[in-house]
Amino acid sequence: MNVSCEYCQIEEGYGDLIWETTYWLIFLAPSQRYLGTCVVAQKKGCKDLSGLKKEEWTEFGLIVKRLEKTLKTIFNPTLFNWSCFKNATFRQKNPKPEVHWHFIPRYKEEVVFGGLKFKDPDFGYIPQPITQRIPPQVQKNLKKKIETHLMNKYPKTSK
Ligand SMILES: [Zn+2]
Repeated sequence: MNVSCEYCQIEEGYGDLIWETTYWLIFLAPSQRYLGTCVVAQKKGCKDLSGLKKEEWTEFGLIVKRLEKTLKTIFNPTLFNWSCFKNATFRQKNPKPEVHWHFIPRYKEEVVFGGLKFKDPDFGYIPQPITQRIPPQVQKNLKKKIETHLMNKYPKTSK
């Protein structure tokens, strides 16, 4: 993991690992400006989406369904943003792009979790790369909540 990405706060990696599949790693992002934001990273560090194999796309499709269903159940977001940017790394002399998806739930209504109010300050617009950390214990509980929900229905399929 040697990329820069303003959405991922990459200096500390993609975040806390929630789920590992054969081809992908799913992390809870360090920044929670949008409650439940995750990163879905391709394990081998593929540079471009066009380099993904058929089975990687198939598995990614399953992850999309499961993550969206899980978040819908626990926080009921209005919609989901999925983005693959890779921009920040190209500001460097030797860019090292790495395929990873930003999974960003978006909310019309405020959600309360861990005693904190989460508003989507940019609802209806593209998500802003503004870091918003939450207390470590809340982050931990959030990870656990998403993880528990994912794993109850879908046991780990790591290699
Ligand atoms: Zn990123």
